[in-house]
Amino acid sequence: MKKIILNFTLFGAATFLLLGCAALKSTNSTLDYIQASVDLVAINDDKVQVEITPPKIQSEEITFYIPQIVPGTYEYSNFGRFIENLQAYDSKGNLLDFEALDENSWKISNAKKLAKITYWANDTFDGPGGSEIYPMGGTNFQEGETFLLNLHSLIGYFEGMKETSYRLSVRSPKDLKGFTSLPVLSQTDSLDVFTAKRYFHIIDNPILYSKPNAVSFDLDKIKVGLALYSPSGVHKADAYQPAIEEMMVAQKNFLGEANNTPSYDILLHLMGMEDLQYFGGMMGALEHHTSTTVVFVDQMQPQELTQSLVDVVSHEFFHTLTPLNIHSEEIHNFEYNTPMMSQHLWMYEGTTEYFANLFQINQGLIEEQNFYNRILEKINYSQRYDDTMSFTEMSAGIVEEPYQSNYGNVYQKGALINMCLDILIREKSGGEKGVLWVMQNLAKRYGADKPFKDEELIDEIIAMTYPEVGDFFKTHVEGTQPINYEDYLSKVGLTRGETDIELPSILLKDSQSPFFMPQPNEEGTVQYVVTGLNSTIASMGVQEGDLFLGLDGTLFPEIKQENAEAINAIFTPTFMWDAQKDFSITVKRGEDLLTLTGVTGTPTVKAKGIVANPQADPNAIALRQSWLKE
Ligand SMILES: [Zn+2]
Repeated sequence: MKKIILNFTLFGAATFLLLGCAALKSTNSTLDYIQASVDLVAINDDKVQVEITPPKIQSEEITFYIPQIVPGTYEYSNFGRFIENLQAYDSKGNLLDFEALDENSWKISNAKKLAKITYWANDTFDGPGGSEIYPMGGTNFQEGETFLLNLHSLIGYFEGMKETSYRLSVRSPKDLKGFTSLPVLSQTDSLDVFTAKRYFHIIDNPILYSKPNAVSFDLDKIKVGLALYSPSGVHKADAYQPAIEEMMVAQKNFLGEANNTPSYDILLHLMGMEDLQYFGGMMGALEHHTSTTVVFVDQMQPQELTQSLVDVVSHEFFHTLTPLNIHSEEIHNFEYNTPMMSQHLWMYEGTTEYFANLFQINQGLIEEQNFYNRILEKINYSQRYDDTMSFTEMSAGIVEEPYQSNYGNVYQKGALINMCLDILIREKSGGEKGVLWVMQNLAKRYGADKPFKDEELIDEIIAMTYPEVGDFFKTHVEGTQPINYEDYLSKVGLTRGETDIELPSILLKDSQSPFFMPQPNEEGTVQYVVTGLNSTIASMGVQEGDLFLGLDGTLFPEIKQENAEAINAIFTPTFMWDAQKDFSITVKRGEDLLTLTGVTGTPTVKAKGIVANPQADPNAIALRQSWLKE
């Protein structure tokens, strides 16, 4: 998964963290698969009806589950809360008794007579407590317009029957088309029938229904599909094809033989600003074996959306390596309602995020300085989390505190752990081998159907590499000692020095904080005072000490907690502006009210960053070359 949080907190630092029935009346019990039917036409009060017909049940009682947690999210979601009015029937249409065991499970009596279960499902975009569910892992029902279906929130499984195959029928409005990597049995303009080998395949293949807005193209040995829902209709799938092509060709080149994904579908669901606010600024993507669900905001400018797609979809595609093809037994035999977590988030998310940055420099998509700035940003953001927490311990306990609130560090320190390992292995192997080599070998040894033993992975990697790698794991991944990044950066001839850091919004004065601070004046009224500048606002004539009164023609309401949402609504769009956006800033300087105008350009600030050391010795420069380019 990859999360981005677009959220401008009122008092304090900006938290912009870059951190997936049909009316088929089959009431007989002679099926050897589970028939699931979803009706997207007869919507009732924003809920859809679901009907599940199991094969003949042999036991007196059986429990029906909706997942508490699903792979890739690392937190309890309790999708059962979106299910209403569950009923169990025998073949004559009589109700069977059942007992709700908890939010996500129902024990049905007289199960030998069970013919079907029916229920209504709410969507997570406005259902009970839905804002707690990552939008990319959720469901959105908009009658006649779009349906984002992450099926773990719609379809359940029976106790002991997770390996039974499914047939899924979806009745859909005539002008909406379903996009998914789920195998299709039959498809008409109003009824689609899909198959799934087991329950995992139901949840590993989300579906996006929307008016047709999709492209599909063949790259070297991989078939790629992009389906897009844009509420305004502004964004067209074909406009994003070139960027995705360039990115995925580069990823395949980077991975080499470690990748054999035959097809990959990107389901891009754009939401409105109200939805973004509802999710507290959360957007991003969730990984699957042959597809990914991506949720961004419709208001993003094309240039901004393209870069976010490259950063986020490349991360998701690298998940085809790990955890999808290199994972432990805990993940392979995933327990949706009583999960056991693996210790290796440093790899599942950390290696993935590291590669999503490394391949861009390796394949020439970004400049070296841009890559160093990304490392710096990760070092800075990682300091927001507990730097002395054992990463393996955190991973195994991730669904509980104090680990859960450190989850975001898997994208920061998790990636940095991999960078240090990479530099270390490159150094020991004379530049020849790195983390990618380790992963290519693990992928050969394991695979989608062959999990490793959780407690043996690190020893295996040490056996493949060097004792120093073992020391690193012991000290900084299993152990609690923070990493001194300078030690590793100096090995590849990098040092601290002044550089231009690009900022994601004109509102920032460095990578973390806004250019203004709330301060009370003599009457006690809180005002925004300009406390720093970036290149864009400096060139517009903004000065330190100015009172910041409004942005792009809108004046701020009184600055207080009750107005946080209204103020955020003025700030948030700046993160989606492209470089050509004309805008204005209203300030008060002394007695003068000034409206200063300019163009966003690329806001930068001079800061102490990570730079190439001009005095680095030739060995360090050679090692850097092999680290970044080979
Ligand atoms: Zn991820």
